[in-house]
Amino acid sequence: MTPEPPSTDQGIARRGLILILSSPSGAGKTTLTRNIVREHQALLSVSVTTRQRRPSEIDGVHYRFIEVDDFVAMRDRGELLEWAEVHGNYYGTPRKPVEQALAAGADMIFDIDWQGTRQVVEKMREDVVTVFILPPSMAELKARLERRAEDSAATIAKRLENARSEIERWLEYDYVLVNDDLDRAYNDLTAILRAERLKRQRRIGLTDFVRSLLATST
Ligand code: 5GP
Repeated sequence: MTPEPPSTDQGIARRGLILILSSPSGAGKTTLTRNIVREHQALLSVSVTTRQRRPSEIDGVHYRFIEVDDFVAMRDRGELLEWAEVHGNYYGTPRKPVEQALAAGADMIFDIDWQGTRQVVEKMREDVVTVFILPPSMAELKARLERRAEDSAATIAKRLENARSEIERWLEYDYVLVNDDLDRAYNDLTAILRAERLKRQRRIGLTDFVRSLLATST
């Protein structure tokens, strides 16, 4: 697949955006997120969490795994843009990398839950695009969690139980995708990103461009 042009679509500078993806665990959000980062020039926000690292996860890549005391200290120092307790663990988005990315006109992808989404939307509505990913069925969600085989049976049961209350938040999102086919969901997601990148409000270079257009005699 051809990579997207950088944040100067048609040579016109624009502000970066935050693309938030939420879904119950197992709906395929992680794969979608990583593909977007790889192929569409977006940066992935690496969250801090107090949960146990899974065998396949790398500290500093998938999450920064930290102790509860350190999490609380970061939060109290105002270093987290948002934070939430999910499945009995703390998760949060470090603020600084986000501010740096947006200032540089880069886009950032967040894989966070509905509680965090609400906080970011409240603080930065203009810069945020929210997408909720639904599984095609509850049976498929369960099957995907079991196939992943990285969590204990008790953890899987807890995640399935929580999935229902997460799905109930779908109305709070700008876009909702059903991930029955990964390629199609990915194409839809890239369409959303492309369109949002072209929004007039984000294209700060348009004012100068239009001024110079109109200043040209015909
Ligand atoms: P997991 O433990 O499966 O990696 O993630 C569990 C849930 O926590 C997922 O729904 C994920 O989106 C959410 N999550 C991950 N990082 C953050 C974060 O920084 N903030 C919030 N609010 N939720 C997060």
